[in-house]
Amino acid sequence: MYKKKFLSFQTEVKQLLHLMINSLYSNREIFIRELISNAVDACDKLHYNALNNDALYEGDQNLFIEIEVNNKNNILVIRDNGIGMTKEEVISNLGTIAKSGTADFLAKLSEQQKKDAKLIGQFGVGFYSAFIVSSEVTVRTRLAGTKFKNGTQWYSKGEGEFSIEPLMLNKHGTEIILKLKNNAKEFSEEYKIKEIIKKYSDHINIPVKMITVQNSKIKDKYGKNLPTWLSVNEANALWKKNKNEISDDEYKNFYKHITNDYMEPLTWSHNKVEGNLEYTSLLYLPSRAPIDIYQKEGIRGLKLYVQRIFIMDNIDQFLPIYLRFIKGVIDSNDLSINVSREILQKNPQVEKIKSALTKRVLDMFNKLAKDEKNYQKFFDQFGSILKEGLSEDYVNHANIASLLRFYTTYNDKHIQNQTLDNYISRMKEGQHKIYYVVSDSFKSACNSPHIEIFRKKGIEVLLLVDRIDEWVMMNHLTEFKNKKFSDISKGDLDLGNIEDDKEKKNLIEHTKSKENLISRIKKVLGDRVADVRFTHRLVDSPACIVISEKDMGFQMRRIMEAANQILPNTKPIFEINPQHLIIIKLEKNIDQKFNDLIEVLFNQAILAKGGTLEDPVNYIKRINNLLLNDSI
Ligand code: ADP
Ligand code: MG
Repeated sequence: MYKKKFLSFQTEVKQLLHLMINSLYSNREIFIRELISNAVDACDKLHYNALNNDALYEGDQNLFIEIEVNNKNNILVIRDNGIGMTKEEVISNLGTIAKSGTADFLAKLSEQQKKDAKLIGQFGVGFYSAFIVSSEVTVRTRLAGTKFKNGTQWYSKGEGEFSIEPLMLNKHGTEIILKLKNNAKEFSEEYKIKEIIKKYSDHINIPVKMITVQNSKIKDKYGKNLPTWLSVNEANALWKKNKNEISDDEYKNFYKHITNDYMEPLTWSHNKVEGNLEYTSLLYLPSRAPIDIYQKEGIRGLKLYVQRIFIMDNIDQFLPIYLRFIKGVIDSNDLSINVSREILQKNPQVEKIKSALTKRVLDMFNKLAKDEKNYQKFFDQFGSILKEGLSEDYVNHANIASLLRFYTTYNDKHIQNQTLDNYISRMKEGQHKIYYVVSDSFKSACNSPHIEIFRKKGIEVLLLVDRIDEWVMMNHLTEFKNKKFSDISKGDLDLGNIEDDKEKKNLIEHTKSKENLISRIKKVLGDRVADVRFTHRLVDSPACIVISEKDMGFQMRRIMEAANQILPNTKPIFEINPQHLIIIKLEKNIDQKFNDLIEVLFNQAILAKGGTLEDPVNYIKRINNLLLNDSI
């Protein structure tokens, strides 16, 4: 038996303790996570070692963590019945830092970083974080499977040295007694500890029990409170259980627990991956989008665990931005619990997990698509975000495109529920392209003048009304299953083989015979238009504007202008319908009336395309002039 002795901390530890004691004041609570994580490790180690040697349990296989709070004396005790330590282990584990260079690294942190305990917690110096809040720390420990007398007591004020002495301990495991500093009294309050454990350790697989003098209801014969233990955590990592052992309600409750969403998720996907990379993921699709969904830097819903220990939340490295609305948990067996965001960013394992999770999420959507009603809810909430994926995710491009749903002239219903495959299956013989029109609202898309010829010929047109649709379609969705997309308000009318030769011939002849009218119109509109011509794309409308295929339409211009982009001035082509009565009668008019008519038709065409008028008052005046002179 040795006598109590005093030993000096390794220099690196001294530096570290100096920092712990003097600098840290934000996120101090992380010391609890660190000490509990050590206790869980100790329990896991005992479980593992006892696989070949039952005797290590010393008769009790129930491993647990106990927390005792005493707010009268400012004492917090964290106790486990895990593996424990020998005297030699105590000296090296609680007197040195295993990883060399850690203190150097810490010294290089900025003053601001030094104040944040969260950062310190990432460097694998967990035990020493006890000194952030404690003026004295005592550790009592005995290795499982050794004799009572082999216990060790370690004690330090964190000031350069520690003492160790032998101790009789009838229980194996480790007890850490913290004498809290005056400014850290809150950590001896039951509610505070509960809150922290709920946050960090609710779903670790070791039960955490807590005792306070106040929560005891049982009295002994002298009327003194007897200790009663409260369970403070769920004690099971839900995602680690087998799927068939988890009820839908449990899944839903867990979702609410991690998101604080009061609504239920639409669906979820729970997977364990084994092999080269080992991780478990439990991903949820919420039933509604948060208000800040368009802020790409906003809160993300994924939490990272490493072996059931909570590491950090709001992580964005495991899913692409266009899936930012997915919530859930990733638990990796390969990452270190000291992993930081910076490390995650550079880690090739993380890249692999990210691409696997992306596929899982898209699979989850594909499965949900079989349930039309819920898929509709999903698409209404998140469809426009999903579309961003067409620009971000080349690998899954085709998959994302087939997950999209559209309004269409096929049914003219105000429900986005038609797929591109639906469209292709209904394409007419001789039709080569998928036609669409972009507008600001469903109604205006339905009534777009450009659609008239398509309706007449029974050719389906997709009606796109999302803010980003024009941009997506121009740049990132130009083809689907070898069919090209065509914006029917841009470029020449192209109906493929459905084109009627007779109609075309008529148009050419008409143009020849009315050259004079065209040049009169051009004179009125001047350099506001690129061209004026007859068209056969209109049925009920007298006129419309079209722009060239490469030019931006009004929707995209508005987005770009809002982003302070300087845009080239594009001029539309003004197209007129030779069959329309107004156009037929137009020729007879001269002077001011002819001018008014052309101005009005041109402005109408801009309005119908969703544009804004440069001079609305002037437009109204001209209409009023025409109303006064009632006939044309
Ligand atoms: P890390 O956990 O990253 O190794 P820590 O500073 O948290 O670093 O702990 C140092 C070492 O002390 C651990 O690796 C472990 O060997 C030992 N240790 C700490 N707490 C316990 C405990 N409750 N039971 C057994 N060993 C412990
Ligand atoms: Mg640790």
